[in-house]
Amino acid sequence: MKYNNKKLTIENINFQVLAKKFGTPAYCYSYSKLSDNINSFKENFKSFSPLICFSIKSNTNVNIIREIKKFGLGADVVSKGELMLALKAGVNPNKIVFSGVGKTNEEINFAIKKKILLINAESKSEIQEINNIAKRKKKIVQVGIRLNPNTDAKTLKQISTGKSENKFGVNSKTFYELVKYCKNSKNVSLQCLSVHIGSQILDHKPYERMLKAVSNIMSKTKHKFKFVDLGGGMGISYSNKNKKLNYKKYNSAIKNFLKKHNTKIIFEPGRSIIGNTGTLITKIIYIKDGGTKQFIILDSAMNDLMRPALYGAVHKILPVIKSNNISRNTYEFVGPICESTDKFVTLKKFQKLKEKDFLAICDVGAYGMSLSSNYNLRPKPVELLVKGRKIKIIKNRQKLTELI
Ligand SMILES: *Cc1c(COP(=O)(O)O)cnc(C)c1O
Repeated sequence: MKYNNKKLTIENINFQVLAKKFGTPAYCYSYSKLSDNINSFKENFKSFSPLICFSIKSNTNVNIIREIKKFGLGADVVSKGELMLALKAGVNPNKIVFSGVGKTNEEINFAIKKKILLINAESKSEIQEINNIAKRKKKIVQVGIRLNPNTDAKTLKQISTGKSENKFGVNSKTFYELVKYCKNSKNVSLQCLSVHIGSQILDHKPYERMLKAVSNIMSKTKHKFKFVDLGGGMGISYSNKNKKLNYKKYNSAIKNFLKKHNTKIIFEPGRSIIGNTGTLITKIIYIKDGGTKQFIILDSAMNDLMRPALYGAVHKILPVIKSNNISRNTYEFVGPICESTDKFVTLKKFQKLKEKDFLAICDVGAYGMSLSSNYNLRPKPVELLVKGRKIKIIKNRQKLTELI
């Protein structure tokens, strides 16, 4: 995204045109950014050519997944719905891994039927359930066990998953037990050790500690793991202050790990692939004087983009038409929803705004639309994919008639 003659543009299209043509709020994705992200992700780890399984929960638009699949990526799914969606998008089942602490009998049955690469189990009960179902079906199912390495990811506490207090994975003691259980079970074949310590990770050190924990456990179990699934979590830059994850250091830590352990690496990135490709275009409905600050009341809200309300996440907001006229007021950008948490950000410095102006909320490609809801009975926004001069509607704006 850049300003062209004071007009904010995505690829060759200016946001003002998009907003007028398709209405607001609108999610808008850049194809070239997506393609750059995938290529640079691959480039970062090319020496050991990992299997990259896009984390579907970060963006569940079937057209987006279809584009991602064309780069040879697989999928990481966490429900039957996501698995069905990945298959519909044409993802090869042999590149699909299934994570999550509460897979139901129905979900496991479906995953076995579709012959996906791995079901990554997260408890003893789940492994037993998989083995029982597989036995009834007279099948041998490839599984992984998710380790909770008790590693602090140094990210927001709400999106940390690799500490012992988190519900995810099993501790090392249970891990050893489950390896034994798998050895003695005829219908599960243990192929993978998986970990995923959290999201929006910007420091490579937690990854190094995670690798150390994984390496120790692998040396102790002496089991031959065909795959080690390191999960996702690579952070992106939401503000100019964010430092960047040092991929070089993460890559070299993995290369060291691979010197000791001969295995195929799997990644499950979501945010790092799709996060910065998406923008939410919104319009100012009203500006209301709140005494110490002015409320900029937008036509998008926490139902369209929940991250700020859910974890206090901060997204950059840019004017669609830039001016040099700076406001003296503090602006609080809020939505119309009847909740005080329905606010995006408070800024002391911004250009002077007026009602009906358009704004762009940045870096919403991951956990934006996929976390959206119909709260306050608001229809979900339209989704657009921009490729050069071409604009494709990849999901229609929901109609109220679908909701009522
Ligand atoms: C959410 C999730 C991911 C993706 O995380 P990102 O931070 O978006 O890369 C990967 N693996 C598992 C198991 C997850 O739950």
